[in-house]
Amino acid sequence: MTPGVRPLIAGNWKMHGLSADGLALARAVAAGGAGLGAELLVCPPATLVAAVASAMADGPVAVGGQDCHAAAKGAHTGDIAAPMLADAGARFVILGHSERRADHAESDAVVRAKAEAAIAAGLTPIVCVGEPEADRLAGRAEDVVAAQLAGSLPEGFGAAGGVLAYEPVWAIGTGRTPTEADIAAMHAMIRARLVAAFPAQGAALRVLYGGSVKPSNAVAILAIPHVDGALVGGASLVAEDFLAIARAA
Ligand code: PGA
Repeated sequence: MTPGVRPLIAGNWKMHGLSADGLALARAVAAGGAGLGAELLVCPPATLVAAVASAMADGPVAVGGQDCHAAAKGAHTGDIAAPMLADAGARFVILGHSERRADHAESDAVVRAKAEAAIAAGLTPIVCVGEPEADRLAGRAEDVVAAQLAGSLPEGFGAAGGVLAYEPVWAIGTGRTPTEADIAAMHAMIRARLVAAFPAQGAALRVLYGGSVKPSNAVAILAIPHVDGALVGGASLVAEDFLAIARAA
């Protein structure tokens, strides 16, 4: 953790949740989420953002989207604009998740444009970076992530209090995680780059770790320097697991 920085525990529900179970999950997280040291966030599928936000209004848990378009409006069938997410009650938006980079061929430049749009709409972007396994094995993980950072973060990221999420692609949904030393090295590199790019804010921007975070490893991961929270996928679908991770922060 970074001294003086409030950790963020964010749940990425991905493409899971119909209204009944999504609302039940949100309510269970809200019921157990009061009074924790960490800030809590759930990112349901777009269809549930408004309902979850209104069910949790004035509660301890913020709501976010999982993607937005780079344009504020226009002829983009099936897409969702950042102002629409804000209008639905979202305060954050995940951008550049490796599943979107893979499924929708999102480049760093696209992620950067989306982050600009999010900031313009008053949302806090959570920009995801992370190396594929081949790059980790070849000793290129830090170079790959540094390049993603250089290409994906817009100028206003620091002033907007943007959040960075380091998620090694090979750790997502696999039950495997990097060693604590590897997480520490990557987060230290990311911190140095954030300080260089955003001198006024970089030391206090939150850098989350994501990839197979669960109650059993959360205490150890969240104790690593410059790990200021977690982006949680699978374990965020079980309220007790998500809250256990939050309590570890
Ligand atoms: P996981 O997913 O916790 O299921 O590994 C993390 C993520 O993709 O954000």
